[in-house]
Amino acid sequence: MKVHLVNPSDVSFGVGVITPRWLYVLAAATPAKYGDPVLIDETLEALDPETIQPGDVVGVGIHTANALRGLEVGRIARSRGAIVIFGGIHSTLYPNEALELGHAHAVVKGDGDAAWGQAIDECLAGTNKQVYEGGQLSAGKFLKARWDLMKPGSYMWASVQTVRGCPKHCSFCSVWRTDGQQPRQRETDPVIEEIVQLRRLGYRFIALADDNFYPVTLTDIALAEKQGNMEKVAELRSLRAERFNLMERLALLPKDSVFFTQITMEAAEDTDFLDAMRKARIKGALVGVEAVTPEGLKSVFKDFNMAGDNLVNQLRKFKEHGVHVLGSFIFGLNTDREGTFTATAELAKKADITFAQFVTMTPFPGTVDFDKWEKNVGDDVLKVQGVPITRYWLIPGHLRPKLYMPHPTMSPDEIRMRTQGVWDNFYALGEIWKRASCVKALKSKLGFVLISKLYRQMYANTGIATDSARRKTANRWARVTAKLCQRIFLAPPMPNLQVPGATNNPLRVLGN
Ligand code: SF4
Repeated sequence: MKVHLVNPSDVSFGVGVITPRWLYVLAAATPAKYGDPVLIDETLEALDPETIQPGDVVGVGIHTANALRGLEVGRIARSRGAIVIFGGIHSTLYPNEALELGHAHAVVKGDGDAAWGQAIDECLAGTNKQVYEGGQLSAGKFLKARWDLMKPGSYMWASVQTVRGCPKHCSFCSVWRTDGQQPRQRETDPVIEEIVQLRRLGYRFIALADDNFYPVTLTDIALAEKQGNMEKVAELRSLRAERFNLMERLALLPKDSVFFTQITMEAAEDTDFLDAMRKARIKGALVGVEAVTPEGLKSVFKDFNMAGDNLVNQLRKFKEHGVHVLGSFIFGLNTDREGTFTATAELAKKADITFAQFVTMTPFPGTVDFDKWEKNVGDDVLKVQGVPITRYWLIPGHLRPKLYMPHPTMSPDEIRMRTQGVWDNFYALGEIWKRASCVKALKSKLGFVLISKLYRQMYANTGIATDSARRKTANRWARVTAKLCQRIFLAPPMPNLQVPGATNNPLRVLGN
């Protein structure tokens, strides 16, 4: 009997951009008595159904973007006689889909670090429940990923998580509702140990795949002080101190290490934090700018962001302190007008950001926006091949509407066309070359151009969708470029690298 874990995808580039971390964490959560699981990442290669034997266990993790393929994988596995267990954010929100359309024996909701093992045991014993509540585990219970199972040279970036949950409440985001608003921050030791293990394998580019790397702002602390809530102040200060401790330890890693993370714009006001990021070689961060006007920000509950010139200054501050910004912008908000597109393109350039993504407003399940939209359309909902568009992930990709939420003044085509125009403007060769001044050597500049073009090719129209973001738009050009780019990312393995600054033993060697 084998355990298989499948990360579903319709399209493969042969090389992955970021490791699908969940595969390697659930590999660690698989009880040792079942042996090492077989890991299949369909962003690299499609599942071969023949490898599944009757009695095997197949785990399928899905999010909204790959749910349709994931449900198909579940049916294939079940028809091969396997026990099928679903997990991931989409199954957490819609367990019945996994049971009915994915032919699952069981679904694990929430964190799988503990519940996955129990689900396998009970499914094999025939005593399983249909739904396992994994809940939101405390950070001490997060498992270290099994990077020893990763095929060498498969990905450009590896991914390590340092904190789950986000205290904000943006209306288009499901993170705060599914991962919680209380930041669950991991201890520094296991994080550094995972990173060292990855560096030993030759991975020097590492995404700190956190919901929000800056979960405690200076404003949060000042507010708690003003309220006289000293217990809260102490808790927030301790979380902040742990962040600095992590960054000090990251700074001790090999000098060619590069980290990237996701962060809120408020970090611009905390220059000590930005300086610590620079020293830790956290060279870039995805910053959710979303909208450039106060009305737009208010409409997505993100009015803690700045607008106009203040926004430009705030974004510039990141670069002034050595942190490059990948700015994320949303188009199609009710407050957007024709001029919003040009204004956004201009602002992105003026703010000196290094990369940008421009996504169209999509109601994702689990968000406030989705609930509102679903309620508004009610029973009078448009259907495609009998599927209501409020379940759009079940509609075959080529038949799906491109935009779902009606706009008061613009048609979906107009929004798409103008959004595409902003991508074209920001990623025009001349503009990329100007931004390439962020690196010195000619070879690095050419690498920067290649990566910018690849980024635009892969994510225009879709936005970055975590570690398995692949869409049908992937083409041969992107495949070739991805192979070329991968050479830039990987480094010679360092099998003898030691864990720096470990508790009680500064030169401790990893014991595996
Ligand atoms: S968009 Fe970012 S800041 Fe807003 S809730 Fe989601 S993770 Fe938090």
